[in-house]
Amino acid sequence: MSNRQTIPQAVEAVPEPLPEPPPEPPSAVAMPFQPSPVTERAPVRETTRRLSVVRTPPTSSPQVLAFRRKFFPHVSNKDWTNWQWQAQNRFRSLIQIERVLTLSEAEREAIVQGGSMLPIGITPYYMSLVSPDDPNQGLRRTVIPHLNEFIRTPGEADDPLAEDSHSPVPGIVHRYPDRVLFLVLDFCSTYCRYCTRSRVVGHGEIVASPARLEKAIDYIRATPTIRDVLLSGGDPLSLNENRLDWILTELRKIPHVEFLRIGTKMPAVLPQRITSSLTRMLKRHHPLWMSIHFIHPDEATPEAAAACGRLADAGIPLGAQTVLLKGVNDTVETMKCLVHKLLKMRVRPYYLYQCDPISGSAHFRTSIEKGIEIIEGLRGHTTGYAVPTYVVDAPGGGGKIPLQPAYLLGRDGDQVHVRNYQGKTFSYPDPL
Ligand code: SF4
Repeated sequence: MSNRQTIPQAVEAVPEPLPEPPPEPPSAVAMPFQPSPVTERAPVRETTRRLSVVRTPPTSSPQVLAFRRKFFPHVSNKDWTNWQWQAQNRFRSLIQIERVLTLSEAEREAIVQGGSMLPIGITPYYMSLVSPDDPNQGLRRTVIPHLNEFIRTPGEADDPLAEDSHSPVPGIVHRYPDRVLFLVLDFCSTYCRYCTRSRVVGHGEIVASPARLEKAIDYIRATPTIRDVLLSGGDPLSLNENRLDWILTELRKIPHVEFLRIGTKMPAVLPQRITSSLTRMLKRHHPLWMSIHFIHPDEATPEAAAACGRLADAGIPLGAQTVLLKGVNDTVETMKCLVHKLLKMRVRPYYLYQCDPISGSAHFRTSIEKGIEIIEGLRGHTTGYAVPTYVVDAPGGGGKIPLQPAYLLGRDGDQVHVRNYQGKTFSYPDPL
């Protein structure tokens, strides 16, 4: 007999900010907020009044502040720093995006055509980091659709990691014997155009309903080999605290579950989500680790640093997961800048992923040699803690395979020949 508690009535009664979001078709038109039209030469008195409305939080970046002044002049600091306001006022349609960006033909046409697997969703905060006029800016390429998404190339698939065929019950992906991926919902506050799970996220199919969650937890409870549960989605931090607390509590009651992890991109795209009440709740469920999705140094803002600081202060070890993306972060210089900024934000670079061959991803994928070149440019050239493990997730569900430069040159009897980061060779006495 199960010893779990059902979700308390009080918990269910709490309005979920983003519990079961409706499907989000590309170019969705419904959005409560319309950014103000840009007034190029506002009267002086009006400008002065607008500036007085926006109170600068001490941890806000100048770029974010300038964006707020221009497009959200009447939004209070209380609203801007409220994660639910940010989530409710995301940019989701062509008309909304064109108010703040000058789109290229290829971007505009992609949004007009729609029909791709992934909807559009960008928080006002993250949009403030996007270049208004450079379609090649790294962050912009990752959130604004492009016609390249419609090009299919050999080897691509909607579910390249065969997650669906490793799913014993809805919401659980069980690939490795001792750990599972628990997809708690399919909502993200900001959608990444290269998302491995673009076949499901944002479509409203994975809902955080009690019945669905309980089935997944039942599977974990009934499978004693599982010692590690990774909550993912979608973004688990999109759930309200009561629902997330309930999930973590139920998992913690299972004796064989030793270790919980949460995968999230919130500190990068919606750092306002990392509230003190969230961290107070999370710290009740230790040992709890967090994998945070960062892809570019431009994401390492004061806001993101403050969010990571709050999580770290709650005793949550933070690791970064980064997808290697062509034209976004595929140089040693960019990656070194990112990993240095991550360490300063108390986040340990954990994985550098080769971009999965999802349908329409060719414009994002680099060669494997490029990934190895980047690791070679980091290892020995910077702090060891700053060097992530470069992995390719094997198509078909083979799991993560680490790749690194060849430092082992060979063996000559009792001597093993190796090379260091400078290319100098050395021999190590290693009797057979
Ligand atoms: S945050 Fe993660 S799950 Fe959400 S769209 Fe980006 S890559 Fe996909």
